[in-house]
Amino acid sequence: MSKKRLSSQVGHTTDSYHRDELPIAQGKAKIIRELQRNPVTILVGETGSGKTTQIPQYILEAGISGGKCIAITQPRRVAATSLAARVAMEQGVSLGTSVGYSIRFDEHCSPNTKIKFITDGMLVRELMSDKYLSNYGVIIIDEAHERTLRTDVLLASLKQILRRRNGSSQGHDQSQDPLKVVVMSATLDAQGFSNFFDSIKPIYVKGRQHDVHIFHTLTSQPDFVEAALRTFFQIHTSNNPGDVLIFLPGQEEIENLNSSIRFYARQLPQGVMPVLVYPMYSSLHPSQQSKVFMRTPHGSRKCILATNIAETSITIPGIKYIIDTGKCKERRYVAREAGSGVDTLLTRDISRSSAMQRAGRAGREGEGFCFRLFPKQAFDSMAPTLEPEIRRCDLTAMILELKSLDLDIERLDFMDKPDEDAVYSGLTTLSILGAIDKHQNLTGAGKKMAALPVDPKFSRAILASEELGCSQEVIDIVSVLSVSSRLFLGVQNDDSNVVGTRDKFKHPSGDHCTILNAFRAYQEVVSSGTYGEATSWCARNFLNARALSEAVEIRRQLRGICKRIGINTDLSCSGQVQPIIHCLVLGLVQNAAFIQPNGFYKQVMGPSVVKIHPGSVVAQTHHPAIVYDELVFTTQTYVRGVSIVTKAEISNVFSSISGRF
Ligand code: ADP
Ligand code: MG
Repeated sequence: MSKKRLSSQVGHTTDSYHRDELPIAQGKAKIIRELQRNPVTILVGETGSGKTTQIPQYILEAGISGGKCIAITQPRRVAATSLAARVAMEQGVSLGTSVGYSIRFDEHCSPNTKIKFITDGMLVRELMSDKYLSNYGVIIIDEAHERTLRTDVLLASLKQILRRRNGSSQGHDQSQDPLKVVVMSATLDAQGFSNFFDSIKPIYVKGRQHDVHIFHTLTSQPDFVEAALRTFFQIHTSNNPGDVLIFLPGQEEIENLNSSIRFYARQLPQGVMPVLVYPMYSSLHPSQQSKVFMRTPHGSRKCILATNIAETSITIPGIKYIIDTGKCKERRYVAREAGSGVDTLLTRDISRSSAMQRAGRAGREGEGFCFRLFPKQAFDSMAPTLEPEIRRCDLTAMILELKSLDLDIERLDFMDKPDEDAVYSGLTTLSILGAIDKHQNLTGAGKKMAALPVDPKFSRAILASEELGCSQEVIDIVSVLSVSSRLFLGVQNDDSNVVGTRDKFKHPSGDHCTILNAFRAYQEVVSSGTYGEATSWCARNFLNARALSEAVEIRRQLRGICKRIGINTDLSCSGQVQPIIHCLVLGLVQNAAFIQPNGFYKQVMGPSVVKIHPGSVVAQTHHPAIVYDELVFTTQTYVRGVSIVTKAEISNVFSSISGRF
């Protein structure tokens, strides 16, 4: 194993954390002065220096927002909710009063909210009803270095809004109050942001970084979950104190490692300290999130299993050891050239910049150690940073949003221009879904689709459900599909018990009506019993209780939005399946596949040959045609969320839309 020093800067250890002791507090006066002076400020500072929690409070306390609300964007839901909770606590108020958050399908704000943590996607949605974002006095774009699609859209829109709202600029709208924009980033490379905003000079905040000793494995570790398990127990049985943070690509690997660590921890000999294991990923319920921040009880060790959420978004105190698998999940649009793509989460190697950020998490409070489960050569050959999402993701939903904002994607001033093929492919999808006409103008249907905060494929299905008299059923299905975690637990393991229980909900037409059956059964249990009964019913039926209760909430909100935009939500097809399937076909027609003689399915609009995922209720049988809502890449390309359709249905839809081009 090779060993390298990350940093030799020494600071003092802060055990109890006070606002004034954070690194950023030293530059407070200067930062406030700059914020007061300039319409745009770029702030760069190491993770943990206090940017996210302190800057909104400085702005509030110095009265920089002119009494209006301060928005602070986050790419991830879990960061928005946990940071809002933290700032509310520091302000001594309860969450949802003067400090609140807004994430899709969950808002904790009041008319008096002055600091609002909001996902970048939700702020884009707010543009739809308030195109100058006039409710806000200051907008902070946090974690800008992540360059998510919505962050890029916001940066481009804010440039225009600044011109409208601020005095001396051309195009100034007198009726508007001035706006300030703060761009915050954790990586030193702020040149791109600086160029984008007329070469303004970034402000740098020094962090506190202690030595981190870095170790690499000699060879690459294909089974990185197993390697992480071994490395964890090597650290743990050495009995040196300090908490451990393990970086894994996603929820599935986190849950697997979580159960293995718990299993082996129970068998440890006496005298080895107890382990407290906490998962941390995007869709984790807020009640679970706060646990990772709790101080570790004396004589035990905390082990946190996290995705790259813990890389720069949130800082967990007490970490001394990092285990880095070197992997992350990346959203990427596959098969774009065929126009059939769906964004897929692919596991890939992280960038060098991420690897350095991850190691840095160990040196916050004292000397730390980082165990990289990949060789030094792998580190050296990593990409310096990842490509911005706008260059690699499906743009369909974004183009629809921009169209409904009267913005033209080709005319907007983006930091990085979107790929022309991706724009073309997004426009094609919108046209197939009937959201735009021949001249690429938004149709009446398109306007309604943009108002629904779900993927355009699903909003198309909801729209169709009104005509076909099954809006109740389709909204239910879309609600479950919009939940961030899976509905059926443990079906991966091929456990006959699980599969047997699940059969109770099985519908011969496929997974979508199976989901509907399970959701309907759950709603019945909820309406006739207590919350506790519903939870144990879920456990008995191997259903994810949290996913179901989230689906109930999403359903409530979707139905509310539908009613507002004039969609009748009370139409039911009373047990008929055909209308439901037809709505799904209209939304998912680009995800249709026909069977091949060898039993595999060939995508109708894509190049790939796919297989039905073993977790699907129709995986064991062959059908002439299917539609699916998700592509999964493991050793081969699987489709998940499958309904059986007929070839004729698919051809009919294609011939009915062919006139649109
Ligand atoms: P930055 O944005 O510069 O990375 P933050 O403002 O997020 O820094 O964090 C500043 C400090 O606040 C860190 O030391 C972190 O540990 C602490 N902190 C943030 N959120 C919480 C929380 N929910 N509970 C406890 N401490 C927190
Ligand atoms: Mg931050």
